[in-house]
Amino acid sequence: MTDHPMRDAVIRIVKRSDDGHDHCCFCRAETNMLSASQDVPCCNDCSADHLEPQIPTRQQWLDEEMWLRFQSSEKDQPPLKPNYIFRTGKTYSEMIRAGETLPPYRNSLRWQTEQFYLEWLTGLKVGDHFFVLSGYNGENPEILKIEKVTKNQIVAKKKKWSRSTGLLIANPNPLYRMQEVTAQNIKLKNSSGSSRAT
Ligand SMILES: [Zn+2]
Repeated sequence: MTDHPMRDAVIRIVKRSDDGHDHCCFCRAETNMLSASQDVPCCNDCSADHLEPQIPTRQQWLDEEMWLRFQSSEKDQPPLKPNYIFRTGKTYSEMIRAGETLPPYRNSLRWQTEQFYLEWLTGLKVGDHFFVLSGYNGENPEILKIEKVTKNQIVAKKKKWSRSTGLLIANPNPLYRMQEVTAQNIKLKNSSGSSRAT
């Protein structure tokens, strides 16, 4: 670790002066607290679980919020600004057209989700099951059993996925990424009418 002057500094939070609230920069829970240093929303729990150097800048936090809103078009939010310029210097549609994604800042919810995912991927072994979509538009949900594992690849049903990204080798579209078997995707599979492979 580098010697950061504020490495061990705790996060000081203050209550907003208006009666508004926003998404916490770490967990996205609604909060009316702000980090005193960066002026970004930070809830009580997260301020206790993190240190000052982990707080994103206001621009990073705003970019992340905007990115998530463009991606999910959250209904209960104020209308989007289609011409919002990200720190990449581009609008959302310009980035999508260029095939770019906004890298999540460290400790953001998107970043945390990715860390859990990579941990899961690293631990996979022969005989483990995973969920995956196939077909032109991902219309075929399947639960597959891992047949072979090499240093870089995971093999099941004659297909190969990258062990470092979870993407299908033949088609690295995120739609076909390996996923954990969850109650939600089992439901998706059962409603598709296809029979279980195992
Ligand atoms: Zn939080």
